[in-house]
Amino acid sequence: MSLLTDQLAVELRTIEVMMQIYCRAHHQGQNGLCQACAELLAYAETRLDRCPYGQLKPACRHCPIHCYKAEPKAQVQAIMRYSGPRMLLRHPILALRHLCKERQPFPEKPPANMANRYLRQQQNNSK
Ligand SMILES: [Zn+2]
Repeated sequence: MSLLTDQLAVELRTIEVMMQIYCRAHHQGQNGLCQACAELLAYAETRLDRCPYGQLKPACRHCPIHCYKAEPKAQVQAIMRYSGPRMLLRHPILALRHLCKERQPFPEKPPANMANRYLRQQQNNSK
């Protein structure tokens, strides 16, 4: 089960379908993702979980924080460059949503206490 809900779960789904398109073309990933892409997806999930913008986050492209390490960042950029345009045909709603998010400006500072992981831990503490 994913750690993410709502907007962040959609965000993860978006990167997942982009990875599937990329993996099928570049790594012969047949049903789902190859090992390397599956690991990258797990990394993306962790980053999303800890993203200080939480549910309010725009698309990562213009983010001032740069939370990815250099190597996975380069991989995800290559995946988005390849799969972004191809996604319109197969997943038009996710693709349009992503394009809209890319036009949203980033707030100068992340809001306080919006990270998904923080909120999840708060919830667990109150149980
Ligand atoms: Zn792959």
